[in-house]
Amino acid sequence: MSKRDFYDILGVAKNASAEEIKKAYRKLAIKYHPDKNPDDKAAEDKFKEAAEAYEVLSSPEKKQRYDQYGHAGVGGAAGGGGYGSGGMNMEDIFSQFGDIFGGGGSGGSGSPFDSFFGGQSRSSGRRVTKGSNLRIKVKLTLEEIANGTEKKIKVNKQIACKTCDGSGAKDKSSVSTCNTCGGSGAVRRVTNTILGQMQTTATCPTCHGSGQQITAKCNACHGEGSVRGEETININIPAGVSDGMQLSMAGKGNAAPNGGIPGDLIILIEELPHETLKREGNNIVYDLHVSIVDAALGFSAEVPTIDGKAKIKIEPGTQSGKLLRLKGKGIPEINSYHRGDEIIHVNIWTPKVLNAEERGILEKLRESPNFKPQPGKNDKSFFDKMKEYFE
Ligand SMILES: [Zn+2]
Ligand SMILES: [Zn+2]
Repeated sequence: MSKRDFYDILGVAKNASAEEIKKAYRKLAIKYHPDKNPDDKAAEDKFKEAAEAYEVLSSPEKKQRYDQYGHAGVGGAAGGGGYGSGGMNMEDIFSQFGDIFGGGGSGGSGSPFDSFFGGQSRSSGRRVTKGSNLRIKVKLTLEEIANGTEKKIKVNKQIACKTCDGSGAKDKSSVSTCNTCGGSGAVRRVTNTILGQMQTTATCPTCHGSGQQITAKCNACHGEGSVRGEETININIPAGVSDGMQLSMAGKGNAAPNGGIPGDLIILIEELPHETLKREGNNIVYDLHVSIVDAALGFSAEVPTIDGKAKIKIEPGTQSGKLLRLKGKGIPEINSYHRGDEIIHVNIWTPKVLNAEERGILEKLRESPNFKPQPGKNDKSFFDKMKEYFE
């Protein structure tokens, strides 16, 4: 499923200010709020979509990654592989509202949004707890980055308790409806504000929103619902990622206590340095050293590339500093068919040690007019060459 552009969703220009983005989101959040559109799936989808767009565009760091890499840069779907959270859950969305509608409210209870709809609270259902996110670092070689790779990684994390199936209860009969909230997971509170009395709903302090109470705890996890364990996770890494980029896999983080939804696995990409090749954006740069003789006579040179060796022709009379291009031998752009190039920087090697015979030959050559430097008017400066190849 392809995602809509975040700027289109909010209806703002790419260069919109933070204030404009916030304003646009506030408008949509009010329009599509579930309290105003009960049982309207389309409105709920729009509500979630807008929240997700705002979540990215309101963070300078995420916005920059999105501008550069699109959805893939912010954990969006990258050619399958199980990325993308499939939107945010309601709990995450409502926690944004403290920021959007002023006030410091976050989490489920008494968010300032409540007052927007005449004190009617939105949280009528049970709250589902979410496990914490897990962060891991994945080190990749340049070859792995160029081709994309699958990594099997063993992670140590909270996993759902197998004995109680994550519920934390000893057996079915030891789970009962919470006495404090009567199973709704929420308690009502009346607060006095300058605008008059306001009724808000808070998460039940006894059951933390699950609506259930456990009378006898599971022995294996002591009622936690999760235990420390190991899981081997298959991570599909798309071609073209770069150092510092983060990918996220929904539901692969720590298990939540008492049967909630697990957190996400955040994968931080680390690029290992390559022995001979250097990455410049999506291009690969290679420094080739050529003897004076080979540069003067011309020859066929073998150069390393990201997928094996390649032959290139060095023309007779090649000057030091010449840049040669191997088209399409660079790094693929993430989520695109475009591929960078390999750029070969020719360095003419001057011998550092000479024997008597070599010295004699060179002394003779020194007298030849062909060995006097004669830079032509049309020889490009280093700066011009760099511009030509990197822009
Ligand atoms: Zn258990
Ligand atoms: Zn309760």
